[in-house]
Amino acid sequence: MTATLDRAFARRWVDAFATDFERERARLTELDRAAGDGDFGANLRSALGKVQQRLAADPQTARAVFAAVSDAFLDTGGTSGPLFGMWFRALSRALPETDPADVTQLAEGVREGTATVQRLGGAEVGDKTMVDAMVPAVAALTDATGTGPQQALTAAAEAAEAGAASTEDLVARRGRASYVGEVARGVLDPGALAVALFFRAGARALDG
Ligand code: ADP
Ligand code: MG
Repeated sequence: MTATLDRAFARRWVDAFATDFERERARLTELDRAAGDGDFGANLRSALGKVQQRLAADPQTARAVFAAVSDAFLDTGGTSGPLFGMWFRALSRALPETDPADVTQLAEGVREGTATVQRLGGAEVGDKTMVDAMVPAVAALTDATGTGPQQALTAAAEAAEAGAASTEDLVARRGRASYVGEVARGVLDPGALAVALFFRAGARALDG
């Protein structure tokens, strides 16, 4: 399988993310229960269900696949639904009208999307949110623009996983977890973990 950032790859990426999410859903729900309100797994499941409905229209480019993903998340509740929706929207818009995309465009989309999430949610790295996984992924993808998609997405996954792991020892300064103070310490942020799952799924989807 060649590492081409096209429609077929985008579909495999989204499917792999949905599969990995289902495997981790109970854990993500439990984390949100421990430091929030416990609806994160349900919110993401709802969004991914809507993604499948929208993909039934068979979007013809990677850009169109991520536009469908964006619309589904924007149509979902919780804090994470709209934030992920805007993130995916920027990713979609950075990709070309005609496949394939390249690593530079992918990096640009993730960078734009992360900037939008930060603008809307006000979170910086260290506030114990999805941003703690997104920002390192942006850096990894930007560093990897001279390499191929496989190396770039693997680097992004590693960076996002490290970023997600770093949330465990933090007290939250944004979102519902900020209401519980010290109780959140020792609890990984589910939003950051979901971002790490997303990039790992991308790296795996390129394996074919
Ligand atoms: P809610 O808190 O409304 O129940 P969800 O459970 O859907 O929202 O999503 C919780 C996740 O949203 C958190 O794990 C965190 O990663 C993310 N989040 C919350 N607030 C913010 C924010 N201001 N900026 C970025 N991400 C945030
Ligand atoms: Mg919640």
